[in-house]
Amino acid sequence: MSRALLREPQGLILRHRPVPSPALGEVVIRVAVAGICRTDIAVARGELPQVSQHVVGHESAGIVQAVGEGVDARWLGARVAVWPFASCSRCARCLSGETQRCQRPAMLGIARDGAFADHLVVHVECVFEVGALSLREAAYAEPVCAALSVLDLGLSPDLRGVILGDNRIAQLTALVLQSAGFLQVKVCDVTEMASLASDHYDFCVESNASDEVMAVALRVLRPGATLVLKSRAPHPVALDVRIVVAKSLHLVGANYSDFSAAIAWIARNRDSVAPLLGSAVALELFSEALLGSSHNEAQKRFFALDPDEQTPAVASPKMK
Ligand SMILES: [Zn+2]
Ligand SMILES: [Zn+2]
Repeated sequence: MSRALLREPQGLILRHRPVPSPALGEVVIRVAVAGICRTDIAVARGELPQVSQHVVGHESAGIVQAVGEGVDARWLGARVAVWPFASCSRCARCLSGETQRCQRPAMLGIARDGAFADHLVVHVECVFEVGALSLREAAYAEPVCAALSVLDLGLSPDLRGVILGDNRIAQLTALVLQSAGFLQVKVCDVTEMASLASDHYDFCVESNASDEVMAVALRVLRPGATLVLKSRAPHPVALDVRIVVAKSLHLVGANYSDFSAAIAWIARNRDSVAPLLGSAVALELFSEALLGSSHNEAQKRFFALDPDEQTPAVASPKMK
């Protein structure tokens, strides 16, 4: 049997289901570690509706346990991280072979069964070998892939930037920019935002969009600067268009970079990634992990589906 954490109308339910089998082109992954993300918490709390009832979770790493028809048997036993979007295989990008940039992807944990389970079935094109990374590091590839997208925008490292919000995404984005030679980037907590100089920054990355954060961003950016939209606020936020126009600002969304680039980036930056990785707990502790109020926003938390991956919970270490 296989444990699976589902979001059902009455709430989160841990079920025991038969081990799934792979269809044509698919693999079954024995999930070892799965990261807990703001998206999963929003799904758990019912703030983000799933398309229908599915297993929650989208950040994961594990071992390929079975392969479907048409999949090379050499994948068996491979240690992999999972790109959490199933491509539609029909849109223009899919047809041109760019399946990772599919225009209508189905996200694991939202539109199809996700990673908070002992077994996860995905198309083989969604699995990436992780080399020497630990599976906990590998399960962090999706957030890294999201943060790396900021580097794809063509911003020059000598620009002066500010990241609004002091949370894991902000810290990770700062780390990614630092690794690419950006030396003038500051992370700014909500409480410090009022003290930021006006018309001062060449670019601003928001990591937790709200009406207040957007107002600060528009104030602190210099004319002609770039506002990078990075968070996935579940609700629309207000943006004063008059200021965007008056300052001729550039607005750009930063979604994902290349997933294999994210794995390679973690391998090169293991020492700086380590402080961002928090404890890994048993799936049975889902209620506290997903619905509890004691979130340590400084560190990523995980479910350890493989008991060997469990780590003792640590008491809220603070980022430097
Ligand atoms: Zn995520
Ligand atoms: Zn597509």
